[in-house]
Amino acid sequence: MEFNNTQIRLAERPIGSPNETTWKITEENINGESLLEGQVMIQNEFLSIDPAMRGWLNDAKSYIKPVEIGEVMRSLGIGKVLASKSVNYKVGDSVSAAIGVQQYCILSEKEITKVDVSEFKPEVYLGTLGMSGLTAYFGMLDTGEPKAGETVVISGAAGAVGSVAGQIAKIKGCKVVGIAGGADKCKYVTEVLGFDACIDYKEEGSLRGKLKAVCPDGIDVYFDNVGGDILDTVLGLIRKKARIVICGAISQYNSTQMQGPKNYLSLLVNRAKMEGIVVFDNAHKYHEGIAQMKVWIKEGILTDEVYLREGGVLAFPEVLMELFAGKNTGKMVLAV
Ligand code: NAP
Repeated sequence: MEFNNTQIRLAERPIGSPNETTWKITEENINGESLLEGQVMIQNEFLSIDPAMRGWLNDAKSYIKPVEIGEVMRSLGIGKVLASKSVNYKVGDSVSAAIGVQQYCILSEKEITKVDVSEFKPEVYLGTLGMSGLTAYFGMLDTGEPKAGETVVISGAAGAVGSVAGQIAKIKGCKVVGIAGGADKCKYVTEVLGFDACIDYKEEGSLRGKLKAVCPDGIDVYFDNVGGDILDTVLGLIRKKARIVICGAISQYNSTQMQGPKNYLSLLVNRAKMEGIVVFDNAHKYHEGIAQMKVWIKEGILTDEVYLREGGVLAFPEVLMELFAGKNTGKMVLAV
């Protein structure tokens, strides 16, 4: 069982946005007969395309080590077991793991998790039932602590994390306002996801004025996916005891000069808290989040939409930039 394995490796660390010199394509032989005890060979099927990938390219301290120059680009994903020397995994099992931007990989059984594809499509385990959904679930519920009747604002509202975070706040009985780029996305956020309102931050006019009009009593919870000017604007409109969930700052990831919040004294005035979250801290209770979200999907009150992009491993550099350009609604997934 030998295959030619096409891979995308990091060629050089980008300054600003990644470009054609960032990546290197390599071909390698991979052989399922040379597995060690406890290893499995996986055919990669779906790659999770994440804003965090940009951060992994920087040689900087973070919650996870950077991708090294020459290394296969890190990617979470779903694949099928092609060969196994593990008693816990058999040929044909669907698994989730850090499989990398390549067609095949060999991993130890300790590095993979089985996914049950009998009820949901495999790629949903990268979206609502994967890291994105779990980030939204624990970030919103444990850190945002939304209470019925409160006003919750979510940036990146049409994206993988934002769409789930907002729907969860709706389920908890809150008034939910999204912020997204473009009229079509805002329509999707209100009409498909069921948010009460959505503001197009790319449209002319004052974001503050528009937010104030839909949140006249102020904002109790802000789930921040984008940082930058939008964070500052929201900080100026929070209520007493507001909770700001710092989930991400995609507006800053390709920037060479990171912009921090200017309006932070609003936290003091409003006795508010701003807290960063990392999904991996909840690994011990992922099963609880997944079980609850499966129920909500079946009840029809939570979407499991995936934005599936065809093109295989070679399309990865382009697809990563499409994510930053906002092409996706819901979870961006690349079919291998
Ligand atoms: P996503 O929202 O599905 O996709 C990214 C979206 O960001 C785009 O669709 C685009 O939507 C928006 N965007 C791009 N540039 C922007 C800018 N300059 N200003 C405002 N919006 C911009 O991605 P995701 O996977 O759900 O991730 C959302 C955030 O969560 C990211 O910041 C990510 O790093 C973070 N995250 C954190 C954790 C954690 O553990 N803390 C885990 C997963 C993800 P528009 O068209 O609306 O601009």
